[in-house]
Amino acid sequence: MKVLIETLGCKVNYADSSQISSALAENGYILTDRADDADIIIINSCSVTHRAERECRQLVRRFHSQNPSSKIIITGCSVLSESFRKRIQEIPFVELIPTNELPLKFKISNKDPSTFYYNRSRPFIKIQEGCDRFCSYCIVPFLRGHPKSIKKSDIISRINQTLKKGFKEIVIVGTHIMLYEDPETKSDIFSLLNDIENIDQDFRIRLSSMEPYGLSKQNIQLLSNFKKLCAHFHIPLQSGSDRVLKEMNREYTTSDFKNIVLEIKSRIPEATIGTDVITGFPTETVEDFDKTVKFIQSLPVDYLHVFRFSPREGTSAFHIKSIPSQIEIKNRAEILIKISFMKRREMLRKYIGSNMDTVIISNSGIISGLTHNYIKVIFQNCKPQKGWIYNAHLMKLNHDNTVLGELL
Ligand code: SF4
Repeated sequence: MKVLIETLGCKVNYADSSQISSALAENGYILTDRADDADIIIINSCSVTHRAERECRQLVRRFHSQNPSSKIIITGCSVLSESFRKRIQEIPFVELIPTNELPLKFKISNKDPSTFYYNRSRPFIKIQEGCDRFCSYCIVPFLRGHPKSIKKSDIISRINQTLKKGFKEIVIVGTHIMLYEDPETKSDIFSLLNDIENIDQDFRIRLSSMEPYGLSKQNIQLLSNFKKLCAHFHIPLQSGSDRVLKEMNREYTTSDFKNIVLEIKSRIPEATIGTDVITGFPTETVEDFDKTVKFIQSLPVDYLHVFRFSPREGTSAFHIKSIPSQIEIKNRAEILIKISFMKRREMLRKYIGSNMDTVIISNSGIISGLTHNYIKVIFQNCKPQKGWIYNAHLMKLNHDNTVLGELL
């Protein structure tokens, strides 16, 4: 039986897909990347925005037209969204199955700790999922539920298994990794990172997106002491207006955020810091947006992920009706995307001419690697091993912000 898995959304979804695909492969299913070849197509969906849900529906139509005889299973967050279910349920060839019920459906076990790196250059290890902060725009707490952490002993065992396969970079993922709490010892993320640091092997770890809560001076100092930790932090800001942050139920101010960024940059000068920003949150005025622009320009962050506000039924922001017009939201997003491009360019320029270790993320088609501080480097005329780390010379910054390098 041939199965195609398509993933939308966040790194937690990618970690889940990786685990499902590995479990399927170990249980005799054949994984394919061609819809016309698949008996079953699994779409691991995302519900964070309308756009993500629309993309899922478009995928269903596309896959069905490419292969009308294959069965399509939708799993992931959208399956738990009432409005999505209503829209998709009447399609006869589509089945909706929550992620945790897939092993039962396919009669497979996904408990084997060796099963979570399929087809990845950098395995994603999930340490927790769920969140109970209820930011006013966010549907995630309703879909992923309260935070649930994976036992520290299981995480360490998974990392050890992964290292035995020869991988050199591991990405630690979760909905809100700062909420990690070992169910057995009640120890926190820093204790987990300390235990990972003490694994006596040559590898590095990267943290996925991290909420600013808990990033005190003392905790940033702890982070700066971990030698295996990549100097790359993605910390969502969402708005540069304190009034909007309050409306979003984000429990920090722009000044708190600035202190976090400055503290990281002073303790880890090579650190690349990225952030998320939402444009068009209800009640966001021109003045609020101007504050966001000015704040971001003054902040030593290196790139932005820009999201347009998407009202999600069930969240408290869904009921606030004064949303800027779609054209205004689009214009604001474009301004931020340009700022992000320039900031990234400024950061990249500093490293042209230097040698840095890069983990190979693709070794066919466009060959590329990633530095510890999140610079993607393109290589030509070489055949490095995917997932291994090579020293590289960063030669040239192209107009589109890609960096050309050569392996040393
Ligand atoms: S911290 Fe806020 S934005 Fe992040 S998952 Fe939790 S509710 Fe959503």
